[in-house]
Amino acid sequence: MTHPDPGLKARLLAAIRDVPDFPKPGIVFKDITPVLADPALFGATIDALAAPFVGRGVTHVAAIESRGFLLGAPVARVLKAGLIPMRKAGKLPWTTQRESYDLEYGTDALEVHADAFSNAARVLIVDDVLATGGTAAAAARLTRRCGAHVEGFAFLMTLGFLEGRARLDMAPVESLLDY
Ligand code: AMP
Repeated sequence: MTHPDPGLKARLLAAIRDVPDFPKPGIVFKDITPVLADPALFGATIDALAAPFVGRGVTHVAAIESRGFLLGAPVARVLKAGLIPMRKAGKLPWTTQRESYDLEYGTDALEVHADAFSNAARVLIVDDVLATGGTAAAAARLTRRCGAHVEGFAFLMTLGFLEGRARLDMAPVESLLDY
């Protein structure tokens, strides 16, 4: 386990930019691009996301399109795990499994290659923001449907007022920030 970085939360809070009414009125978008652009902060963030799962036997990181890719790929390298992209419908070229989830209006779906995981896979699901939990819960269902075990979830931040953690009761949820 790496040492916790005591100043990290404050540095993340200062760097993450709130963009009101994006992509639509009423949403405050959490823009993480300033975190990605700062080499020291990006590195410390990746180390902190991976830290709770070091030594836990994670074989694969499942990264959720699209900002989950930016965090999940370096976390996979730290954990010496493989990287599995979970993508929006119609993006992956091979045979896929699909899980739909509800949005405020309508539904969306995540897909993964049907042969992405073996039964022995222990999977860490990574994304930038946990909001209602619908996306991450679909990622977990997809992982299990492919025969793999969900070892945990790692998020840069949780929007606590949306109570997404309640939908992820199948495995530990780690989040660097809780709003
Ligand atoms: P949910 O399924 O409601 O937990 O939403 C999580 C997904 O939507 C993640 O992939 C996030 O990247 C994205 N998301 C939700 N709310 C926000 C927000 N306020 N700012 C940035 N991304 C968000």
